Amino acid sequence: MNVEEILDILKREFEKWPENKATIKKMIKVHNNEPFKSLIMAVLSTQTKDSITSEISKKLFEIADSPQRILALTDQELEKLLKPISFYKRKVKYIKEISKIIIEKYKGDIPNNYEELIKLPGVGRKVANVLLSNVYKDDVIAVDTHVHRISNRLGWVKTKNPLQTEKELYKVIPKHLWRDINLYLVAFGQVICSYKPKCSICPIYQLCPYPNKNLSF
Ligand code: SF4
Repeated sequence: MNVEEILDILKREFEKWPENKATIKKMIKVHNNEPFKSLIMAVLSTQTKDSITSEISKKLFEIADSPQRILALTDQELEKLLKPISFYKRKVKYIKEISKIIIEKYKGDIPNNYEELIKLPGVGRKVANVLLSNVYKDDVIAVDTHVHRISNRLGWVKTKNPLQTEKELYKVIPKHLWRDINLYLVAFGQVICSYKPKCSICPIYQLCPYPNKNLSF
């Protein structure tokens, strides 16, 4: 399997894409890997462009950068701030509930294991794995729709949903690449291998076995 060769190419190309400026990994780094902020950004980032998550998180943290400060804001104030984020009303409820739980149950600490993280509102497998791989440096693969779609197109897996994809990727991706897969495939999925792929400008065209390539772009 050509996993390492493909990821090497995507890694080089990544530097040229505007999407590399606001990945969730970079956002977390900018905020010094702070677990609370990282958790909130990961929750806000689901189904939202990373550039929007980055901009809105920055505005949010200027006003409220701790569970206590988030709880001090009204729902209306938070909704106004988070409006550009997908499903912002639901996410306002999530981040307030998370803040309350972090204070009451965890005394201000953020859980550092999968089992506890996914008990938090708005935290699914992908959000938990984003946090574990970027903040706690665990070797896990965070699989979202981009990683799922591209892994199938490249023939690395043959799966029907992100959970199956994650399980299969652990078998075919060398362990030292687990934490980076999300970074490069998400950016690649946003720029080139999107739902309607731009195969005519794809840097890994020759290595891709996908039978329905789109050359019309
Ligand atoms: S050739 Fe097309 S389908 Fe294959 S990886 Fe590139 S963009 Fe995606």
